[in-house]
Amino acid sequence: MPGSPGSSPARRGAAALAPLATVAAAHIAPAATWLPVVRRLGLTRLAGVGRPDHVALTFDDGPDPASTPSFLEALDSLGIRATFFVLGDSVVRHPALAQETVRRGHELAVHGWSHNRPWFPDPAGDVRALRRAIGALRDVTGRRPLWYRPPYGILTSGRWAAAHAAGLRTVLWTAWGRDWTTRATPESVRSTVMADLRGGGTVLLHDTDRMSAPGCWRAALGALPAIVSGCREAGLSIGPLAEHGTALAARG
Ligand SMILES: [Zn+2]
Repeated sequence: MPGSPGSSPARRGAAALAPLATVAAAHIAPAATWLPVVRRLGLTRLAGVGRPDHVALTFDDGPDPASTPSFLEALDSLGIRATFFVLGDSVVRHPALAQETVRRGHELAVHGWSHNRPWFPDPAGDVRALRRAIGALRDVTGRRPLWYRPPYGILTSGRWAAAHAAGLRTVLWTAWGRDWTTRATPESVRSTVMADLRGGGTVLLHDTDRMSAPGCWRAALGALPAIVSGCREAGLSIGPLAEHGTALAARG
């Protein structure tokens, strides 16, 4: 999940950094990319803006045998394929589910090895964790991932550099459903997503409650039909990042 309700990453980051040295502040400063206004102003590529007639649908934090299969069924029935930003430690625990996700035409991408916060600069650790996650995805699915999204959307310079060196394109999002909160409902998720969604946008949802309020994935699942029909009524097609028209040649 990208953050906790009522407490922005920037605020929590500032509070945590107060006793630390300047080097730590410089390290975590790129977390400002999390802020929607910053992304809208100048980081459209990082936010995952693609071709204007298309919306990329993405799910974070899986795979989770308790919830991901329900999303696979729902996406099948809606005729939609998506991108799943998975955790390496979950992929190796649930390889059959990762394989089934790919078999159904979805795309796996890297959310990290585990869902940790980058409190201190650790560029070598960032490289190791990312390589480990890429290796797990490749071993389990036979495919090399293309995309990276850091846990909590906190993109440090070390994580960005590690992803870039590994040939992954970092993608955040343009619209989210706040589906990780205890108060989330299918209608709240739908209205939150659609308020920010435009052609070319990238939607962030979660196919598990592993990192968030128990059972909250049901709100995201329940919102899917209305989000899909809303996009279709607006003349927008929906699919994975691989079909979003973001040029891999311009990786960053
Ligand atoms: Zn996450």
